[in-house]
Amino acid sequence: MEYTNIAYVLAAILFILGIKRLSSPKTARSGNTIASVGMLIAIVATLVSYDLLDFQTIAIGMIIGAIIGAFFAIKVEMTQMPQMVAIFNGFGGGASALVAAAEYFNPANPSTFNSSTIAISVFVGTLTFTGSFIAFGKLQGFISGQPIVFPGQKILNGLIAMSIIFLGVYTVSMGAEADPYFYGLVALAALIGITLTIPIGGADMPVVISLLNSYSGVAAAATGFVLMNNGLIISGALVGASGLILTNIMCKGMNRSLANVIFGAVGLTQETSGESGKQIQVKSASTEEAAMILEAAEKIIVVPGYGLAVAQAQHAIREVADFLENMGKKVLYAIHPVAGRMPGHMNVLLAEANVPYEQLLDLDQVNPEFEDCDVAIVLGANDVVNPAARHDTGSPIYGMPILDVDKSKTVLVNKRTMNPGFAGIQNELFGFDNTLMVFGDAKAMLTDLHKDLKEL
Ligand code: NDP
Repeated sequence: MEYTNIAYVLAAILFILGIKRLSSPKTARSGNTIASVGMLIAIVATLVSYDLLDFQTIAIGMIIGAIIGAFFAIKVEMTQMPQMVAIFNGFGGGASALVAAAEYFNPANPSTFNSSTIAISVFVGTLTFTGSFIAFGKLQGFISGQPIVFPGQKILNGLIAMSIIFLGVYTVSMGAEADPYFYGLVALAALIGITLTIPIGGADMPVVISLLNSYSGVAAAATGFVLMNNGLIISGALVGASGLILTNIMCKGMNRSLANVIFGAVGLTQETSGESGKQIQVKSASTEEAAMILEAAEKIIVVPGYGLAVAQAQHAIREVADFLENMGKKVLYAIHPVAGRMPGHMNVLLAEANVPYEQLLDLDQVNPEFEDCDVAIVLGANDVVNPAARHDTGSPIYGMPILDVDKSKTVLVNKRTMNPGFAGIQNELFGFDNTLMVFGDAKAMLTDLHKDLKEL
């Protein structure tokens, strides 16, 4: 037991080091490896110190799990990563609930403390399981991405929550005779996972997934208390805390409260007020014209957004940027914290295309750079460069920190149409005197631009 606990402490140190290294793209890969080694140590320590299942059964489970995991990791596109994380969270929560439920039916220690932790784990784990599957369905398109709202929804959720508290208290206090209450608790936890997630718009799902990730950690930590397993308590608490911190970072990046994300039903077709409702006159340019503008520039800042990920244009922009650098120009990349559809989306994409980390600047670092920037190239980014966030109090994105691309001498904006981005509002930037629209799919546009630059 003593050795097991030493191994768990070692694993916890590796988890913390791993998480620390995940905070920068430069060290993220090694962070992942360090945390995985920590997990391996924790698993091996658990297997050798507890007389659980026979090794053959464990090996079969591990092989099946590894094959399924590897298959999805290879097959899933970068833009589908949030739904994959959602599924993993769901399985994590479900696994914790199942282990805790097994302890309910076969308690090693039938104390009030034990049954309380079982109730918490089953409740949070089951809620995470169903909530994550709704999140997955919304992002994958099985379920409408629109917020699903109906009259009395909040009252219904309130009633379900109160019933859950009632059933939880009965489950704990009745001990062995609590079966009907226990089943009721499981059913209502599954129901509230669904009713709390359906009113949230598909585009807000990454925030919800991060929150559900935190819940899956809480469920695991509660199961750790059920089993009195220090490794599970530590790793569950780490997941719970880091998921909550990430949720907070994402909310700050959008300047919205968590309550607004969960209860605001943002994404419903709504009338927008203020300047965002105005018709915008835009000037468009061809890739030849864009190439000439870039030829005359010295300092260029690339602003990637969700559209770059959709178009898979990360390699194409890297090639264009390399070409511009070889022409003697300074090229930087501006990374907004919520550009794309998940935290770090742009960093991961650009890292995949081997863009040097030193060129990636975050919001605070890059905003002063726009003052003397000759050309900002906005690629499939919309909300994160909308100046209305600075001054239009009626705009749904008012207050969201944005990239000040409009301060550049020229702004080249690439997107396919005049359709709005996630927030559903027009972008006044597109009508500014110093803005030129270069319409088209980001990858196709960049390929043409590269050709035109070579032909100059
Ligand atoms: P937006 O959703 O605001 O805009 C993306 C733009 O990309 C669209 O206007 C679209 O225009 C364009 N686009 C789509 N496909 C292509 C293509 N193939 N080629 C070129 N352009 C394309 O994205 P941003 O990155 O600017 O902002 C992210 C938004 O997502 C923010 O509102 C943020 O709050 C939200 N969000 C982000 C999260 C995160 O963690 N990153 C989490 C939750 C929400 P068109 O259709 O005309 O081409």
